[in-house]
Amino acid sequence: MMAIGFRKTQRDQKAATTERRSAEHAPAPDRSAVLGEVEELGIGMFWATDPEGRLSFLSARAIADLGLDSGSLIGQPLTHIFQEIEEGTGASTQRSLAFKLKARSKLDEQIVAVPDGRGSSRWWRLNGRALLDSNGAFLGYRGSAVDISSQYAYETQVARDSKVDELTGLANRRKLNDRLSATLAAFRTSKRSCALMMIDLDRFKQVNDTMGHPAGDELLKQVAQRLASIVGDAGEVGRLGGDEFQVLLPDMDDRGTLGELANRIVQSLSQPYQINGRRAIIGTSVGIAIAPYDGVEADELNRAADMALYSAKETRGGTFCFYTSNLRDAASKTAQLGDRLRDAVDRGDLKLAYQPLVDPLTNEVKCFEALLRWHDEEEGDISPAQFIPVAENDDLIVRIGEVALKQACMDALAWPETIRVAVNVSAKQFIRPGYRKAVAAALEASGLPPGRLELEITESVFVGDLETVDAVFRDLKKLGVRLALDDFGTGYSSLGYLKHGHFDKIKIDQSFVRGCTENGDINPAIIAAIVALAKALGMETVAEGVEAMDELALVKERGADLVQGYIYSRPITQEQVLAQFAEGSGLFRPSGPPRYRAERITIFRKVGLIHEDHYYDVILRNLSKTGARITGLAGVPVGTDVVLDLGHGQLVVSKVVNATENSQGLKFETSLIGDGSGGFMTRHRISPYSLAEAGIPLAALGAGAFPLAKWRDANKSIPRFVQLELSGPGV
Ligand code: C2E
Ligand code: MG
Ligand code: MG
Repeated sequence: MMAIGFRKTQRDQKAATTERRSAEHAPAPDRSAVLGEVEELGIGMFWATDPEGRLSFLSARAIADLGLDSGSLIGQPLTHIFQEIEEGTGASTQRSLAFKLKARSKLDEQIVAVPDGRGSSRWWRLNGRALLDSNGAFLGYRGSAVDISSQYAYETQVARDSKVDELTGLANRRKLNDRLSATLAAFRTSKRSCALMMIDLDRFKQVNDTMGHPAGDELLKQVAQRLASIVGDAGEVGRLGGDEFQVLLPDMDDRGTLGELANRIVQSLSQPYQINGRRAIIGTSVGIAIAPYDGVEADELNRAADMALYSAKETRGGTFCFYTSNLRDAASKTAQLGDRLRDAVDRGDLKLAYQPLVDPLTNEVKCFEALLRWHDEEEGDISPAQFIPVAENDDLIVRIGEVALKQACMDALAWPETIRVAVNVSAKQFIRPGYRKAVAAALEASGLPPGRLELEITESVFVGDLETVDAVFRDLKKLGVRLALDDFGTGYSSLGYLKHGHFDKIKIDQSFVRGCTENGDINPAIIAAIVALAKALGMETVAEGVEAMDELALVKERGADLVQGYIYSRPITQEQVLAQFAEGSGLFRPSGPPRYRAERITIFRKVGLIHEDHYYDVILRNLSKTGARITGLAGVPVGTDVVLDLGHGQLVVSKVVNATENSQGLKFETSLIGDGSGGFMTRHRISPYSLAEAGIPLAALGAGAFPLAKWRDANKSIPRFVQLELSGPGV
């Protein structure tokens, strides 16, 4: 300060410079003094936790404001001190605080209530993040807070008085919550069901940040219009606040229909938006819970839908997820997986496998795709589909991506010059500023010609401000690498960006290929259309996930240039690739089952089987949409009608179609449906209401989540089958 005043009044510039330098070199104000002033002035407060999530520090001013002493706060679990805001208060909605802390996610403008020493509460807006040491061990949270009590009280009052969301004209949080509580209360007596969908936009913040808040508001309005037109009068659409929407669907418990509706919502909201002459794209995730199965009170159901939403976002975004009771443990599992993954990366435990992309006309390999492999001591092989999303939660994805890229380039250099290598790129990694440099560095370090490197990118990169994304593409093309669009048709499916000419190759997603030869399937037409489109735009096509001979014949006939799938080879090691070339052969022979068989998931799970008025315990060995194999019972004749109890009201009427001494094949009367994440579930569940009054044959039902134990013990006849002892993992 002094130096500036001095400069203004003196002509001698030299003297001024000297003065200024000495001011610059004067000891900077002590950091803690500055922080102390910030606290003292009430501009901000700071807090910290220990690794167990207990408060280890809170600004003195904050403690004084609360009228408490530090002794009653320090050492308390954070979730006791900071309480989630009550539903229906009109404030922006908050994902469960406890959930975020468990998953060690960033706290971003989270509003909490903090009970004070005067029997009421202050409202704080929190920011914070997990602190890791240099080895990646979790040390606790560090964060700041701002007291927003007065503003909050005003907003809450305004929201209380109104039932409409001003921006979009939809129902607001309060109205939705009133409606949900009223519906559930009324339906409880009439035993009707009601579904709740929680909808959250993926990366909306990015649009807000890069295009400005007015653009963000405009986008929310357009989202509201699209939602309202899809849902129509099947339910009530509302905005909870921020970028969260909700749909209430009375008398709806068909998970098939709900999944289709959720899918339509995801697809529709992911189409490009025009905002003041610019284009923007966002993604959408949906969580679904259904009363009375997943909860009978409004807050139970809200929490269940929220958890399902969280899970949908964690898996990959752009998708939907139904609530299941397993989701409760999901957050802590994710955190554990993250810790182990970091160790694995440090130890260099992540390896690459290579899967050939073969020309189906000549059986010659043209390219290998590099796929990460992780073998964990405890858990065994963990799929990249599971650990990549975890790595994407923080900077780990950048490290993993760079290691994979370097290794793949190096390995490819040992192959014949005509063979390319394809490396997967996470969207999160792709849009980071340093990505082009990392690619250039990997090419330079290995000496691989850029034209032999192909980057596989999914549609999820086309999110947010498309001009920034375009610039990354142009940079990469300048480097001379090839670009492939992976999993085409699954995500944000917009053909618009294909026209920009960024891509050299389209990979048709496995879901179009699998089972495409079944009668009445429209997938062959989709495959043909994608191939035609790609040809017109000068792109190569790859059919992914080809397993059976009939699928190979079909994709060949529809003109796919390359085929990747178990039919040619599973992913193999670099040694195996080299051995193949050493033999002088770049040929892979197709081999696999002649026809596609309905997908069966191999499992080992204890479930129930009902026959007459008996409930037996059996082991489910595998499950497909249309049937299952069970063990654990002896003497069950072919043709017997039974009911399989998959848990939580999922009863499947089945017939025994084949049987050995202690194992039976069941065919389901009604097919199961996909659960959105690779598993199967029943379209309908038996409501706990009907279960509670169940007669024959439901009288034999297991206790499970339902109050049926009394029937179970009251067996009325002699069991027909022999219950064998069940043993094995998980039993
Ligand atoms: P993707 O890029 O679509 O890779 C193809 C996946 O399909 C691989 O699964 C491959 O093993 C599997 N696959 C290939 N042919 C068949 C088949 O005939 N039948 C079946 N059922 N599956 C087949 P994988 O290795 O588990 O990888 C899953 C996903 O993880 C990949 O999907 C990719 O998105 C991601 N990923 C793998 N490696 C990396 C990586 O280095 N970086 C990033 N960012 N993602 C990776
Ligand atoms: Mg790929
Ligand atoms: Mg793929």
